[in-house]
Amino acid sequence: MDYNKIGNFIMSERKAKKLTQAKLAEKLFVSEKTISKWENGNGIPDTNILPSLCEIFEITINELLNGERFSADSYENKAEKLMLELQKTKEENNKKLLSLEIAIGFMGILFAFTLIIIASLIKISMWLRIVLILYGVIIAIITSLIALRIEQVVGFYECPKCKHRYIPTFKQVNLAMHVNRTRYMRCPKCNKKSWCKKVLNK
Ligand SMILES: [Zn+2]
Repeated sequence: MDYNKIGNFIMSERKAKKLTQAKLAEKLFVSEKTISKWENGNGIPDTNILPSLCEIFEITINELLNGERFSADSYENKAEKLMLELQKTKEENNKKLLSLEIAIGFMGILFAFTLIIIASLIKISMWLRIVLILYGVIIAIITSLIALRIEQVVGFYECPKCKHRYIPTFKQVNLAMHVNRTRYMRCPKCNKKSWCKKVLNK
């Protein structure tokens, strides 16, 4: 905390209210010396005095401790803008992750299929054929699990009955019937089973 800035702020707010140090001291039940101590940056008001001081100056405690007034505009706009920016970044990241999911799933299954088809067609020993096919199946399973894991954690599923948005467990996602990204799952809030749609933000 910048004591000097707070001190200057107290002085300018006091003068704006046309109060002398003595008059302000009287209103706050403190000594005149205390006021001058704050204004010189040698201390700040105690927490039990802050509310009354802020009431006299018609400012918030936050403003007093920052040593400046916030315009209502900048205060609310800044917070709101920041929230929107955060949400946008999150949504964009989610979209990227979902594209990655499609890419991983597609490449993995394509690779696995190619491997299995080649293994079935080329002239190799039975043993090697089984190993290659097994290898293809394992790749297909691993890539689907990775894709499913991405789908589970990115964004939320929305219950159509109560509109609750939630992240299901991996097991839930794994076992659920699905059409594209819409899955038939039990909502943790209303406990009803329904087709829950994927949404990107809460
Ligand atoms: Zn529900």
